[in-house]
Amino acid sequence: MVVTPTQTTHKNFKGVEKTVFGRGSFSQLDEILAPHRVENEGYFVFLVDNYFKGKALEGQVPVHAEDLTYYISVEEHEPTTDQIDQLRDEILAKKGLPSGVVGIGGGSIMDIAKALSLMLTNEGSSTLYQGLNLIKKPGIYHVGVPTISGTGAEVSMTAVLTGPVKKLGLKCEWTVFNQIVLDPELIASVPRNWWFYTGMDTYIHCIESENGRMNNAYSHAYAEQSMKLCREVYLGPNSGQTPENDDKLMVASMMGGLSLTYSEVGVCHALSYGLSKILGTRHCYANCLIMNHLADYYPEGVAEFKEMVAYHQIDLPQGLSKDWSDDTITQMAHVSYNLPHMWLHAIGDNWQEVITIDVLKDLFRRL
Ligand code: NAD
Ligand code: ZN
Repeated sequence: MVVTPTQTTHKNFKGVEKTVFGRGSFSQLDEILAPHRVENEGYFVFLVDNYFKGKALEGQVPVHAEDLTYYISVEEHEPTTDQIDQLRDEILAKKGLPSGVVGIGGGSIMDIAKALSLMLTNEGSSTLYQGLNLIKKPGIYHVGVPTISGTGAEVSMTAVLTGPVKKLGLKCEWTVFNQIVLDPELIASVPRNWWFYTGMDTYIHCIESENGRMNNAYSHAYAEQSMKLCREVYLGPNSGQTPENDDKLMVASMMGGLSLTYSEVGVCHALSYGLSKILGTRHCYANCLIMNHLADYYPEGVAEFKEMVAYHQIDLPQGLSKDWSDDTITQMAHVSYNLPHMWLHAIGDNWQEVITIDVLKDLFRRL
């Protein structure tokens, strides 16, 4: 039979294998890990955001005598290839291949857990594997426990690492978590500004996923629900950091992540990568700084975003670009330009007629 090639290749992705959702579900972690404690050398590695050192959660992490626990600060920088390589070498030298890795924290810690799981079984430096489907062997069992919601890293198939040459994810099916534990109680302590920036990452994922040619009924359904939840969390009389809203935000983050997985992100993320790569600005904050100036591309989304900013009296600095040299702005523009999949989605086949380095430089100058 002759198969007629179709124009579009539809995305065929592996999802997270198991998901538990609910207040207090973190207490089930020990039970969840138990059947996996027999694999390899029979011990687990826990990677915990250093914020939790000395907090109540420290006593609730189900660490057994044989396990290794690392409290990792994510304040200084986003996850790096060096950091993963060193951690991998240290763990293998100390105790051999673990049964599994558990990451308890935000996008940074979850990405470290995903990358470590892969690098424990793949030889050489993680820089060799930055890109799509470059990983050779499956990683080990890995579990994600988000403590801040928004990036969708809990459901994504990438572990974003900054290397000496590029900031790019280890992206393949094996990156996806085997298990996630979504316990909204864990996000209650997130500082208000981070709660806003990371939540807006979800909102922006949806606006971008919806506004482009890759949007489809599947990605739309997730985006629609996720935006509804974002509006309940960030707009109106019941908005704010409440237990009910934390439940909603955790689900919104996951759905926003699934929406963009089956569609694509767009103008804001393309520019945000430029800003983060050149100046090290954190992902969610960078998105907020940029979204403020994208009314030409996403008029309704930007108007609503501004309403949320005003409602929560979030201070988004203006006039940043006056301190940037033309060279810096040019570098940012080139990073952003080199994301054709985002531009194709957001603008269309003729994107190169619409988006030029000069157009991008003008956009950066608006910041
Ligand atoms: P993060 O992990 O960088 O944490 C942000 C801040 O919040 C840190 O100071 C952290 O200590 C603090 N924090 C976390 N949980 C807390 C809690 N419960 N209470 C108090 N403070 C808490 O935040 P993020 O925005 O979730 O992650 C950003 C990272 O995610 C970047 O490295 C980015 O590259 C990556 N990312 C990954 C994906 C993906 O799909 N893999 C997508 C987008 C971004
Ligand atoms: Zn994002």
